[in-house]
Amino acid sequence: MSAVDLYARATTGFDERVAHAVAVLQSAATEHAGRIVQATSLGAEDMVITDLIARHQLGIDIATLQTGQLHEQTLALLPRIHERYGLEVRAFEPVAEAVVHFVRQNGERAMYESIELRKACCALRKLEPLARMLDGRSAWVTGLRREQSDTRAEVPFSEPDDKGRTKFNPLADWSWADVWHYIATNDVPYNPLHDEFMPSIGCAPCTRAIAVGEPFRAGRWWWEDEKAKECGLHVKDEPAVSMLGAPR
Ligand code: SF4
Repeated sequence: MSAVDLYARATTGFDERVAHAVAVLQSAATEHAGRIVQATSLGAEDMVITDLIARHQLGIDIATLQTGQLHEQTLALLPRIHERYGLEVRAFEPVAEAVVHFVRQNGERAMYESIELRKACCALRKLEPLARMLDGRSAWVTGLRREQSDTRAEVPFSEPDDKGRTKFNPLADWSWADVWHYIATNDVPYNPLHDEFMPSIGCAPCTRAIAVGEPFRAGRWWWEDEKAKECGLHVKDEPAVSMLGAPR
């Protein structure tokens, strides 16, 4: 059974939520013309946002973090986005020497050994490239939704980051059913791993399928405590993030 079959459902207020997301993106694009980027994880929510950007011809650049640990199914979305929308997704990679040094010192499986090593891996593969992605930008767009986890329950439609940029979360009030209803009705390309019970997809070593009834992000860093489960991209008061100069 596909993710569309499993999750897509039309619910009251869907059209209004789509219209509101478009309005958020339109006003963000106008206010931050030439200085705004969608930081896409290539997950379902971000594919919806990319579709909205393309459909409404919004002047928002699109970029992703190519951590070097993504599934091939995730990477395959880059040419699909180009074919479908004619849009280029700029990929930001970690500094090669830093990765080689980290792996030489800590091994390929360091992320499973301690939270500190896992966060160090996220810092060099995600946070440092994110800082470069956002350099010179005044705003960025994410696919955060309130429903994704307890730590995201209060996500607003826009919020300041610690560098004075504005972070826009146009799908903050969308449900998982909304995301898939939009994908189904607009034939949005999506990662086939979503059809294999992976609602939240990150790097391959740190993502697993979830079982029926498990929380949305249970397949991310599943060996850690629930509260530790963020990579730092969207966490406030994260020392590693401040250290690297990346937004929180
Ligand atoms: S999600 Fe896993 S592999 Fe990816 S950067 Fe973080 S620790 Fe490293």
